[in-house]
Amino acid sequence: MSDFSHRLLDWYQRHGRHDLPWQTPASPYRVWVSEVMLQQTQVATVIPYFERFIKRFPDIASLAAAPLDDVLHLWSGLGYYARARNLHRAAALVCKKNDGKFPEDLDSVCALPGIGRSTAGAILSLSMHQRHPILDGNVKRVLARHAAIPGWPGEPKVAEKLWAMSERHTPRAQVADYTQAIMDLGATLCTRRNPDCLVCPLSGDCQAHQAATVHEYPGKKPRSAKRVKETTMLLAVTEEGVLLEKRPASGIWGGLWGLPELTDQDVPTQWCRQRLGCDAHTAETWPVYRHSFTHFDLDILPVVVRLDGAVAAVDDRAQLWYNINSPARVGLAAPVTALLKKLHASL
Ligand code: SF4
Repeated sequence: MSDFSHRLLDWYQRHGRHDLPWQTPASPYRVWVSEVMLQQTQVATVIPYFERFIKRFPDIASLAAAPLDDVLHLWSGLGYYARARNLHRAAALVCKKNDGKFPEDLDSVCALPGIGRSTAGAILSLSMHQRHPILDGNVKRVLARHAAIPGWPGEPKVAEKLWAMSERHTPRAQVADYTQAIMDLGATLCTRRNPDCLVCPLSGDCQAHQAATVHEYPGKKPRSAKRVKETTMLLAVTEEGVLLEKRPASGIWGGLWGLPELTDQDVPTQWCRQRLGCDAHTAETWPVYRHSFTHFDLDILPVVVRLDGAVAAVDDRAQLWYNINSPARVGLAAPVTALLKKLHASL
């Protein structure tokens, strides 16, 4: 075992996280769900989502058998919904092709939707004690700093060096503890903004620390200006609730339920007459609500209309009246939840 992994394991015994909900028991399914939830999301945020999810879907079979709407409902607020759709699709594949048993070799795990090499390595290492290097965001940061590897890890050449480094440090024994240890070190000590180098077990030979250049690693992504997209969302209100529509399966918020989006040409009152067969007696425009995605900002112009008279029946599979006091169990995108809350407060 290298000195690097030895020091890390020693630190982990005393300071690492040993009581995360997916660690007891660390079954492949529970570790898989946690690893997917932890992509782009902090542990503290994930814990309550994980607990609710596992209570409702205790095993792969129950997840595979559930309607996608139920899965997205439990994912509402966590964001990056492709993760939930892939998890659901992968569970169905595991049930169909492998009798519900999670695969045990790296290639088969990597072949499942939504699982990359690092996630696959983490699942197999944490739940089955197989030796695989991992390279999630936290590990990239630790390794880039420790060996002072310049460049943005999104560049293939930089990633290649980091993978080689991760491979070199991963021990043959105690691999599950080592994997958790390096993730924990990145999450708790070698943090992005304020790394606590003075108590770090790797500080003795950390090149970035020695050279006082910690904040230069990992290298930043070359900047490109963020695009801004615009849309109008309609809050059509009746006694029954607010009209929601199911979004197409692909694209942003795929498979979630959202507010109807209007084009520049649509006039809200006419839209209601044509699509819902009733008149809207007021149309109030709220200030623009900005929602940021990784690659662009979405400026949402919310328009509230109150509908008069009987509304033509809506298509149950694609539309529903959402009652905030007894909400349907469906997945909602974060800005839709925020706009519905604001509406509720204004009623
Ligand atoms: S010494 Fe500092 S920069 Fe280096 S690995 Fe430890 S916390 Fe990170």
